Amino acid sequence: MAEQCIFCGETVERGTGKFLVRKDGNLLWFCSSKCEKNHKLGRSPIKTRWTKTYRKFKGKLTKAEEMKDVQAEAEKKEADAAKPKTPKFKEDKEEKESPKEEPKKEEKK
Ligand SMILES: [Zn+2]
Repeated sequence: MAEQCIFCGETVERGTGKFLVRKDGNLLWFCSSKCEKNHKLGRSPIKTRWTKTYRKFKGKLTKAEEMKDVQAEAEKKEADAAKPKTPKFKEDKEEKESPKEEPKKEEKK
């Protein structure tokens, strides 16, 4: 799975964390309640010093972290390639118009 925390940018381990489903269908992953609460408070991860996003933005990532990022991206690409290409949400614009055949009323004269 390897989803990224929407706030701190760390990968969310499988079986941990939470996600929030937005009205538009997007998923917001949180690795911890700390991240969730900070997000709810409206804080920007770029301005919050303890986040990986901040370090990335400032160019202060350690080499280990950079390597991890590269590996995660490669894994994600492999996973995407393995998946059959199906749209996440089928746009059912063409709803089957069920022709309601109205029984012809025989006018009795
Ligand atoms: Zn987080």
